Amino acid sequence: MSATARITARGEDRLRAGHPWIYRSDVRDVTGGSPGAIVRVTGAKDKPLGHALFSDQSQIVLRVVSRGDASVDGAFWRTRLEAAIRFRKALELDATAFRLVHGEADLLPSLIVDRYADVLVVQALSQGMDRLLPTLVPILVDLTGATGVLARNDPKVRLLEGLEQKVEVLFGSVPPTVAVREGPVAYDVDPWHGQKTGLFLDQRENRDAAARYARGRVLDCFSYNGGFGLRLAGVASEVDALDSSADAVARIAHNAARNGLANVKAREANVFDELRHLERENARFDTIVLDPPAFAKNKAAVPKALAGYKEINLRALRLLNPGGYLVTCSCSYNVDEAMFGQVLYEASVDSHTPVTVVEKRMQGRDHPVLLGVPETYYLKCFILRKLA
Ligand code: SAH
Repeated sequence: MSATARITARGEDRLRAGHPWIYRSDVRDVTGGSPGAIVRVTGAKDKPLGHALFSDQSQIVLRVVSRGDASVDGAFWRTRLEAAIRFRKALELDATAFRLVHGEADLLPSLIVDRYADVLVVQALSQGMDRLLPTLVPILVDLTGATGVLARNDPKVRLLEGLEQKVEVLFGSVPPTVAVREGPVAYDVDPWHGQKTGLFLDQRENRDAAARYARGRVLDCFSYNGGFGLRLAGVASEVDALDSSADAVARIAHNAARNGLANVKAREANVFDELRHLERENARFDTIVLDPPAFAKNKAAVPKALAGYKEINLRALRLLNPGGYLVTCSCSYNVDEAMFGQVLYEASVDSHTPVTVVEKRMQGRDHPVLLGVPETYYLKCFILRKLA
């Protein structure tokens, strides 16, 4: 008899509603399942519902990978990975770095795969995916022709699964820097130590969108490796890029030089302090980008996060020339689009600035949102115009 998890009626409802996560309180019992095993999921009267990855540590005990009776074997995973890769090909992205697998939204819960030229960077964020890596990596190599696969298994969420945080090569070789291109911008990326898997790939299309409006003097706040700033430099007279990390600032300067962009100045600064300082100096900009880290990592942090978003947006609106554009983002899943929109409205009222919404955007198409799984929609990006 194979390992089986029996779930409650509420768990069944959730599954029917399209969500792949079953929490501990909706699991009646699990028999024969070792940590990270693929288990059969059954409902009332032992009706078979599908298969799931089992975790004996997380509150998310089951992550459903298939519905009905289909068996979950090597061919099954190959089909899933093929579908994810085929979709990215169909997008015809103008970049050599992009996301190949976006977890739940590719029906591969808790698995991330990003492509940086010939290198794949993977993250296995549950016991089940961790255990599956030896099965998945050869399939990924076969499907992509990658010459190296790096596991960036250092995110903190792995601790909730009782998994260790580690970075290791799983296939071939992975150099300390990889050269990639995103639209017109060439980057040297450090997949070993960079944030996330090296770059913020989810903003690619928002950078392109911003380039449609940006002009004049540009202020790129929370710049990291210069994602927005370098993309906008071609249409700007000058770009000031700010980040609190010295390492990030060094990379902006390096990548600016690599692209022959002489109008980009990067400096290490705390954006909260610097916006205040620029205001005192009466500085003015034609375009401002705000792309902060997630201020609300959990529900309890939401009120403070909203105050933080309001403060930077209020100050940015004051610093903009009339007719100028504010490209403003939130990647906090716990602050949804409506809440973020409300914060922006309040910032416009408090800065006495009439503002129009030029575009309302989200994460790039290679990071799809699965309907019914709100956790897959985390990045909001509004392009605003200050009228007067
Ligand atoms: N805009 C970037 C991604 C930004 S990620 C891109 O397009 O690629 C958020 C960045 O904010 C990180 O690089 C982090 O170092 C920086 N950061 C966090 N808190 C900060 C603060 N208070 N002031 C300035 N930078 C900060």
